[in-house]
Amino acid sequence: MSLTGPSKSKPSVAIIGGGLCGLGVGWRLAAAGCAVDLFERDKVGKSASWAAAGMLAANVEAESGEEMLLALDLESQRQWPAFATELSAHTGIDLGYRDEGTIVVAIDRDDAEALRFTYDYQKTQGLDIEWMTGGQARRLEPHLSPGVTAAVHSTLDHQVDNRQLVVALEKACRGAGAVIHEDTPVTAVDISGHKVKGVETATGTYRADVVLMAAGAWSYDIDGLPPMARPPVRPLKGQMLGLRMDPRAPIVDHVVWGPGIYIVPRRSGHLILGATVEDKGFDPDMTAGGVFRLLEAAWEALPQIEELPLDEMWVGFRPTSRDDAPILGPTSVEGLVMATGHHRNGILLAPITIDGVSDFILNGILDPALTPFSINRFYDETKSETGIRA
Ligand SMILES: Cc1cc2nc3c(=O)[nH]c(=O)nc-3n(C[C@H](O)[C@H](O)[C@H](O)COP(=O)(O)OP(=O)(O)OC[C@H]3O[C@@H](n4cnc5c(N)ncnc54)[C@H](O)[C@@H]3O)c2cc1C
Repeated sequence: MSLTGPSKSKPSVAIIGGGLCGLGVGWRLAAAGCAVDLFERDKVGKSASWAAAGMLAANVEAESGEEMLLALDLESQRQWPAFATELSAHTGIDLGYRDEGTIVVAIDRDDAEALRFTYDYQKTQGLDIEWMTGGQARRLEPHLSPGVTAAVHSTLDHQVDNRQLVVALEKACRGAGAVIHEDTPVTAVDISGHKVKGVETATGTYRADVVLMAAGAWSYDIDGLPPMARPPVRPLKGQMLGLRMDPRAPIVDHVVWGPGIYIVPRRSGHLILGATVEDKGFDPDMTAGGVFRLLEAAWEALPQIEELPLDEMWVGFRPTSRDDAPILGPTSVEGLVMATGHHRNGILLAPITIDGVSDFILNGILDPALTPFSINRFYDETKSETGIRA
């Protein structure tokens, strides 16, 4: 993407939401010379993009019926190393990118059968994953439970520190000249004659040629949108725990998945356990049952967690669309563009979302990889052959 000074021919852009989608697109557009105003109802980078685990798990998360999404996930995963290098070099912020890979473990015979079923499907998709015995898995991660009977190893499913990611994106966005309005909720999108005019906030109306909807799990609730341009996105609650390892003697280096759990080790020693999946709206509470199940499932895979201090617990809200796939690109309203609905894979999909949506706003051309993910799939029968379940 070319970096040029401000230019009158570039569209002015109002961005709703300061998560990774809003900050990332804001960075690219401001760097390309657009006048960018980003509106955040709270503080930027403190919602799902902060709450996530940062796994870039296109392979081990691949599920039957989501083949179109898998193609997008794999392409974004391929772009991650270069994206991380660029953002890190640009901001001087280490994104904590780790490439040890991911191990999915089975604890008993039933788990092993379920894992084999998923593995067989993933192999039909040509994914680069490997079946292992429990012993082979323990050679990679010696602290895995002796009860681990089988495993799948993915060398390509890496991780990034998503909290560092949003700090870096905010720095890049501000540095490129975007104006960030924190504590400024957008109450409505201003539309007249099927064309956006700007956004309304408590402090006033802002005019813009383009409005980007990047409000994550809150995207459905913003007024002013006609029904066919209202993204069908709801919050899916996730409870998470943070334990503390000695960074000089970590008990695990790979990302480890077990039944009902994933375990994500940061270089800092932070060990993330996640996550519940709860359809409970914006319920902010940690629950005894949620914490109990996370700890129990993590302990079954990696018993040594028992000795680790519990540092942190938090709740996040995945922005989940009706078919679990993101909503990207143009809408039936001229100038209204979507970057929302990323569900459990928004960190993975950051590079392709940020660059694909920015290119569309700048050049009017949508990357063909993004076209199946238009909001029109929910409303337009002719789009139903994409393979995405609407
Ligand atoms: C527990 C959990 C674990 C996850 N783990 C992973 C993972 O390992 N890997 C992965 O790829 N993905 C993961 N995800 C998913 C990922 O975090 C999200 O898909 C991604 O962060 C979405 O980014 P976003 O910018 O769309 O939303 P957000 O980061 O939620 O940002 C949206 C922003 O919009 C603001 N906003 C809302 N309404 C308004 C308004 N009216 N006006 C102004 N601002 C507004 C919000 O305050 C918020 O800051 C996880 C999510 C959760 C909750």
